[in-house]
Amino acid sequence: MSVKDTVSKAALSVVLDRAIKYVQKDPDKNLPKAAGRILGLFNGLFPSKNLEGIKKGAADPNNTYTKLVKNVFRDVDPHIIKTMAMSLGYEAGLKGTKAVRSNREKYDCNIPWIILLDPTSACNLHCKGCWAAEYGHQLNLSLEDMQSIVSQGKELGTHVYMYTGGEPLIRKKDIIRVCEENQDCTFLAYTNATLVDQQFCDDMKRVGNLSLALSIEGTQESNDWRRGDGAYQKTLDAMDLLKQNKCIFGISVCYTRTNVDYVTSDEFLDLMVEKGVKFGFYFNYMPIGHDADKDLIPSPAQRKYMYYWIRRVRNGKTGKPMFIFDFQDDGEFVGGCIAGGRNYFHINSRGDMEPCVFIHFADSNIHTHTLLEGLKNPLFTEYRKGQPFNDNHLRPCPMLENPDKLREIVKKSGAKSTDLIVEEDVDTLCRKCDEFAYAWKPVADEIWENNPHPKTHTQYYRDGGKAKMQ
Ligand code: SF4
Repeated sequence: MSVKDTVSKAALSVVLDRAIKYVQKDPDKNLPKAAGRILGLFNGLFPSKNLEGIKKGAADPNNTYTKLVKNVFRDVDPHIIKTMAMSLGYEAGLKGTKAVRSNREKYDCNIPWIILLDPTSACNLHCKGCWAAEYGHQLNLSLEDMQSIVSQGKELGTHVYMYTGGEPLIRKKDIIRVCEENQDCTFLAYTNATLVDQQFCDDMKRVGNLSLALSIEGTQESNDWRRGDGAYQKTLDAMDLLKQNKCIFGISVCYTRTNVDYVTSDEFLDLMVEKGVKFGFYFNYMPIGHDADKDLIPSPAQRKYMYYWIRRVRNGKTGKPMFIFDFQDDGEFVGGCIAGGRNYFHINSRGDMEPCVFIHFADSNIHTHTLLEGLKNPLFTEYRKGQPFNDNHLRPCPMLENPDKLREIVKKSGAKSTDLIVEEDVDTLCRKCDEFAYAWKPVADEIWENNPHPKTHTQYYRDGGKAKMQ
């Protein structure tokens, strides 16, 4: 770390301490003033229109996001707020974004902003349609593997890591150790919440740079149908414990043909806000694995409903004080598919470098390749060449909405199935998506044509020069 960097960090640390104390004293009065100063740090990195919009929103007490931020200041431990602001805002947002962008040009390949890794294949639940339950307890990334992933990632500018699985908290000691040793990174664990206890909350507060996304799927009935009896109550109990301990957490929701109504109901969202949830990641069900039920894929009518629902609940006036992402319907904000290292990729518990948590193919493994070598290998290169996979960002996926693209990528690159139970060839996988892709196209095109799209500042670095800015 350079002297200049050390000084900037120390100065920012002092500013943040003061700002957090100042806002916590009287969030209603002090938040708008503090917001202007903090957002000033991001000038030049993000479009000024967006920053101005955030500042304006912060001055409106009825704005959903103002309520959300005030809730964060009221509910979350000041050390966690500060550590998150330093690791996510300064290290990942300010410094990391610059480093990632320059490395994309330097190495002429995709460089991710986020890396997902599975500490273990083991899971203590057996959810319907989830591949993890079948993987058994055999495969783990060692502590050294996890440390190596993070240190290689940091060299490339990556400062955000998400633990997936399997159930990552089966490895909670190692997870906490990696968080502790990498305070310049921010971590999130997707968890079924059954292993959250007081000791773990104490550890989360101590390290400050770990948040959780708890899996939940609507009401007790819809949740336990997929996750097993008692899972719903355990998740709510974990939320209570996390809230009491002032930890930061959100939810992870897989929406299927059977639970779309439950997981988008006001009743569900209001309960989540009351329980202390601050963010929600919504995932469209993907029919991966030999036992996957393609009839659980939400229908085109349900996807259309999700498109309008997400825009309503995220709206500053009509929304809920909880930040929600729907990865399948938010492609327009990020220029389509973000996998293959364009913004993220996934490392499974055997070390295979997969383009996406849902795409179980690889041609590189962390035990035989560096991260940079894997990013330059044929599979990720084919991803890079093909992105965006569709000009209609409501059809972003090379598998779900454009299955011929994934067939081509896998065959051209020679990547192999990494399914840990039964290898699944790309044609078998993509056949399960053909029907949906065909039915969704006219509906997606109609929505795309009849709704405005933001001018994103999405960059396709392979194009070079001016062409990289869309
Ligand atoms: S491969 Fe599909 S599911 Fe994965 S990030 Fe791309 S669009 Fe999303």
